[in-house]
Amino acid sequence: MNDSSHQAPAAIPNLYYPWQELQWQKLTEVFSSGRLPHAIMLSGTSGTGKTRFADSLANLVLCEQPFNGGIEQKGPSPCGDCKNCKLVEAEAHPDIRYFSPEEKSTVVKVDQIRLLNEYISKSSQQGGYKVAIIYPAEAMNHNAANALLKSLEEPSQKSLIILVVDQPGRMLATIRSRCQVIDFPMPSYRHSLEWLQLALPESTLHEDLLELAAGSPIKAYQMAESEAVAQKQSMIADLAKVLKREVTVVSVAGKWQKYELQIVLAWNVTWVQQLIRYAMTKDTQLIKDDTLLKVIQYLAGKHPAARFYELLDKVQIACDLVARKTNPNNQILIENLLVGWCELMQKRAV
Ligand SMILES: [Zn+2]
Repeated sequence: MNDSSHQAPAAIPNLYYPWQELQWQKLTEVFSSGRLPHAIMLSGTSGTGKTRFADSLANLVLCEQPFNGGIEQKGPSPCGDCKNCKLVEAEAHPDIRYFSPEEKSTVVKVDQIRLLNEYISKSSQQGGYKVAIIYPAEAMNHNAANALLKSLEEPSQKSLIILVVDQPGRMLATIRSRCQVIDFPMPSYRHSLEWLQLALPESTLHEDLLELAAGSPIKAYQMAESEAVAQKQSMIADLAKVLKREVTVVSVAGKWQKYELQIVLAWNVTWVQQLIRYAMTKDTQLIKDDTLLKVIQYLAGKHPAARFYELLDKVQIACDLVARKTNPNNQILIENLLVGWCELMQKRAV
């Protein structure tokens, strides 16, 4: 098969990613045998493709005539042709609803879950299933989670609640125990790299992308467009110069703030994590850049590993600020980060 159209590459699947084959097989088996539970929790670290999987599962249960035996498909697939499939494709199906934090909020509120309960208890509009997808389900606050229990304890006919969870540890045990939990581990490095090479045949930065995306092939794919990925070496050189006081924090921050902020932060997370790992294990295998290795070896000689967690906290606070869209001043945010690095050059007064 050689599809050279401008559509997404063949490696980007319609239904699920290659590493989700077993999960699809497992759920479609119970679906085909008419034993689909009322609540399913797709659980695992972000960046493995759970939301796409949730959409595909929703599509499957709504499809009027799922078919078996697509060439490489494990388990049944939605037909793509029936009225319900067309509505799903147009993102206009009235029997799928999404529940996520509203704009400028980080939590799913109790009012939203009350709407979910009402929606799921009524008859569907197209006569089939009603599907509710909550993402990220750990964003439900305490009241919202308690309100959801009502629907989990008294499920209505032909209803499916899909909870997509990035941080399983934050879910209430009472919710978890009422769902069929399906785990989505991160694919192996080799598997991810192979997939990324297929998805981005033109790129030469596959390994850098995966490093930056903490091993997530999907995040790596999404980052591929960013100029900041290709700036890795020059950013490492900047960092080394700042530490040696050859350039100022302000000038480097001025340069970095022109790049995509999330990528700049992601590089910083990666480097601090590599610093911590090196300080604890002296393992240099994952540090592929010589300048970075010298920086890391120098700093690790100055402080115990625990000291570097303070910088990691600082970088992660910056990541949170950006994720929450609280509009930080980018220049100041990056300056703070660089100051955190520079502080590592000094022995701390006891
Ligand atoms: Zn269909």
